[in-house]
Amino acid sequence: MLSTSPFWWEDSGKLELPAENALPAEVDVLVVGAGLTGLSAARTLAKAGKQVLVLDSGIPGSGASSRNGGMIGGGHRLSIKETISRYGLQTAVSVLRESHIDSNDFAKSLMAEEAIDCDYAESGRFRAFWRDAEYNPAARELERLQKLIPVEAEMLPASRQREEVATDVYKGGIVYRDHGGINPAKWVTGIQRAALRCGALVQGNTAVENLRREGNHWLVGSARGNIKSGSVLMATNGYTPSNFSHLVRRLIPVPSYLIATETLGAERVKRLFPNQRMIVETRDRHCYYRPSPDGTRVVFGGRTAMIKVPGAFAEHGLRGLLGGIFPELKDVAFTHSWSGITGMTFDFLPNVGRVGGVWHALGYSGSGNQMAPYLGHKAALQILGDPAGETAFTQTDFPTRWWHRGFPWFLPFADVVYRFKDGLNNLRRLA
Ligand SMILES: Cc1cc2nc3c(=O)[nH]c(=O)nc-3n(C[C@H](O)[C@H](O)[C@H](O)COP(=O)(O)OP(=O)(O)OC[C@H]3O[C@@H](n4cnc5c(N)ncnc54)[C@H](O)[C@@H]3O)c2cc1C
Repeated sequence: MLSTSPFWWEDSGKLELPAENALPAEVDVLVVGAGLTGLSAARTLAKAGKQVLVLDSGIPGSGASSRNGGMIGGGHRLSIKETISRYGLQTAVSVLRESHIDSNDFAKSLMAEEAIDCDYAESGRFRAFWRDAEYNPAARELERLQKLIPVEAEMLPASRQREEVATDVYKGGIVYRDHGGINPAKWVTGIQRAALRCGALVQGNTAVENLRREGNHWLVGSARGNIKSGSVLMATNGYTPSNFSHLVRRLIPVPSYLIATETLGAERVKRLFPNQRMIVETRDRHCYYRPSPDGTRVVFGGRTAMIKVPGAFAEHGLRGLLGGIFPELKDVAFTHSWSGITGMTFDFLPNVGRVGGVWHALGYSGSGNQMAPYLGHKAALQILGDPAGETAFTQTDFPTRWWHRGFPWFLPFADVVYRFKDGLNNLRRLA
């Protein structure tokens, strides 16, 4: 039977709902959202001796953090030229360094320090081009990047692409060597355990409903009563509720859909992914896929729709995409089919900062396994007043648009536009 829970939640990836405790009347910091961001922030704050309460409206970790594709590695979607023209060379280089290197170092040291077993394998990532015309500009962009910061990556021409993935649909790509794969449920649960060990209190099934400033503290209204808090950190990303209007106006909650295939056998999967790489493609409604950590199945994701659609519709769309890439898999059974919500921003960059006295760290735009724990940690250091909390992601804009008042009414239109762009690019591929 097809499970609608993430494949990652099985066995030791199971999420953990901490025992219900009486809520304290007062804390130093209240973190809203127990995902990679909130739990990493809580760990840093608790380690510094602060009394921290993390509240989540569901089971901690059950947002995007345990639903994602399990690919870990650096980078962002803004071109170097655009990053420099928007923020100047110095901030742009910091954005690149933090997103490719510092966040990677942080994630690895967090895994090591807290002995988090999340099936991490530095298997690399292959970014596959959809069109021939992408190859030369991407090669120039990579050269520019490697002049600014040391990134372990190289171009792979279409003639050699079968070294990475057993399909001819792509037109070459880039291999990033220090990216890898994890079980994201184990990753977020590992960080939760670390936060608890450091003394943070984490409570699930307790939604934060409102915030009110009272003198020099916040009165946080939750489903289980009010709590006084010195500071509040919003770590709700794509799940940010509509009453936090300054944040929802800057976030676009885009759903993404995934499936796990039945067990295909290690030999067959190795034939499809000779180096066990994570694969992402450059199509507008892009697919991202990978071998399962035990190398016996394929976990396959894609933006089959930019709006919430019924599971059967998503599965049909994903089957078509999977079969287009690997025709031999077009009829395999799926054992799991699930979705999650990504928090996109208008500049495709996450942001850390404070608006109206409320802290936030969010907007990972589909790439948070490495960035979210890192920026949660940075936000915590900023709350502590520690200069080490400085990050370029506080210097960037976190823009909104006048027409985004909070409800993402425009997503159905964006869905049509992206379908059209994909159709156009398919035609261009034939030209
Ligand atoms: C399908 C999918 C695939 C992805 N694939 C990848 C990938 O392969 N690699 C990668 O790097 N990134 C990937 N991402 C992105 C990555 O998962 C996110 O960037 C990251 O998990 C964000 O973590 P977070 O803690 O900020 O948010 P989340 O994990 O989404 O946590 C937010 C939490 O806030 C809680 N919350 C919301 N409102 C309230 C409230 N009022 N009160 C209390 N709690 C509240 C929610 O319940 C939720 O648990 C993917 C995302 C999705 C959805």
